[in-house]
Amino acid sequence: MAETSYDLVIIGAGPGGYIGAIRAAQLGMKVGVVEKRAKLGGTCLNVGCIPSKALLHSSEKYREAVHGFAKHGIKAQVELDLATMMKRKDGVVDQLTKGVAFLFRKHKIDHLAGHGTIKGTGLVEVDGKPVKAKSIVIATGSESMPLPGVAVDEKRIVSSTGALELAKVPQSMIVIGAGYIGLEMGSVWSRLGAKVTVVEFLDRSTPGMDGEVARQLQRILAKQGLAFKLGSKVTSATAGADGVTLTVEPSMGGASETMNAEIVLVAIGRRPFTEGLGLDAVGVARDKRGFVEVDAHYQTNIPGIYAIGDAIQGPMLAHKAEEEGVALAEMLAGQAGHVNYETCPGIVYTWPEVATVGKTEEQLKEAGRDYRAGKFPFTANSRAICNDEKDGLVKILADAKTRRILGAHIIGAEAGDMIHAVVNVMEFGGAAEDLARSFHGHPTYNEAVREAALAVAGRARQM
Ligand SMILES: Cc1cc2nc3c(=O)[nH]c(=O)nc-3n(C[C@H](O)[C@H](O)[C@H](O)COP(=O)(O)OP(=O)(O)OC[C@H]3O[C@@H](n4cnc5c(N)ncnc54)[C@H](O)[C@@H]3O)c2cc1C
Repeated sequence: MAETSYDLVIIGAGPGGYIGAIRAAQLGMKVGVVEKRAKLGGTCLNVGCIPSKALLHSSEKYREAVHGFAKHGIKAQVELDLATMMKRKDGVVDQLTKGVAFLFRKHKIDHLAGHGTIKGTGLVEVDGKPVKAKSIVIATGSESMPLPGVAVDEKRIVSSTGALELAKVPQSMIVIGAGYIGLEMGSVWSRLGAKVTVVEFLDRSTPGMDGEVARQLQRILAKQGLAFKLGSKVTSATAGADGVTLTVEPSMGGASETMNAEIVLVAIGRRPFTEGLGLDAVGVARDKRGFVEVDAHYQTNIPGIYAIGDAIQGPMLAHKAEEEGVALAEMLAGQAGHVNYETCPGIVYTWPEVATVGKTEEQLKEAGRDYRAGKFPFTANSRAICNDEKDGLVKILADAKTRRILGAHIIGAEAGDMIHAVVNVMEFGGAAEDLARSFHGHPTYNEAVREAALAVAGRARQM
């Protein structure tokens, strides 16, 4: 361990912790980051965003090769080599986690390897060794939410971590939970050949997503082969040598039934992870769901102890954690750090992708807001027709009077990249017309975003 005294000690080297550390180092602070995992980068780089996106990309290529090449006049004999696909994914993780280690060296940030425990204001122990810090940041992230009666063994009954590591394609898989992680991992294994059934407690998939877009996504995924069993709750699971038997009953009550699958993925959400941090002894307040409570400056009830990322309230997303890390570092340096949560995008990396920012139609209706919706389907977008990626639409929601953009919801190829044009306009408080009057290269998927912005004023030209 290089030092025993720091301006800032951050516990957790995920996106919140490592990006916050880099910003603090840029601002002249002496920074140490405590991380118990062998590799830096947290959940996101090791067992979250990155490995899942690597497998989503590989499996989509496989699906395309099996089902999509023929119509382009390409004949191919396709064979899956899962071991190589997994090795590539591991290589991606390795490269990016090493990248974080490089950035730490570059910015003279110390990686304090080991388990961090907070002993009080200004004092952390790393594997029992004391480290002093003017400020301490809890950036310890989250873990998979357990489901009573369904014990995860990471072999037959897996969390997302186990689902990223399966050694063979299961014949059948039941995904418990129709949130983004369940649908992404379900898509991976469905594309590779598993018969995937998604069981969801609610009567809809992707809770929180704009209803129209969520329904389209479910319809498209069903066409791809995913089966959905909504309004159903899993009450118990028994794992045997050949698979898992689940007891499932209607969420609202009724007769139970059994379902079998070779593999069961539990993906019912995530919860903050603060185990072994010593928060009770120090008196750091948490809410009923275990999130560390913070004020507008990310400070907990204990002076000098802060928290960011998945460990606090808000969307559990890597970029949200990053923005909070940066804002906190800037505030600690006496600057005006700020996070605009209204423009935080959310992306589901299925194919097609779904990307959303701001309010949904349901939220606007509930708030009684006078709004206009401008929509444009990809069936009328020239690039989508060229590429045979016609599924989906762009929906822009704007204030009826000022036309200020209040939300945008895109389902379509590369939606996750497209959404950022709207995010930027929203960040500047822009109106649908600002988007509509900007140049858009032709032919691009982004032209559908412009057409949806024009449609807010009833002026779409291409349909
Ligand atoms: C399968 C999956 C896919 C995902 N995909 C996406 C995506 O595509 N886009 C997106 O934005 N988000 C995605 N997420 C969510 C994203 O990973 C999290 O929102 C993000 O990692 C949160 O960052 P964080 O810095 O708060 O914490 P984390 O990334 O969870 O990092 C916390 C770190 O703290 C360490 N730690 C905890 N306690 C201690 C301790 N006491 N001492 C030392 N170290 C400790 C942990 O080992 C961990 O490395 C995904 C998550 C999963 C599981």
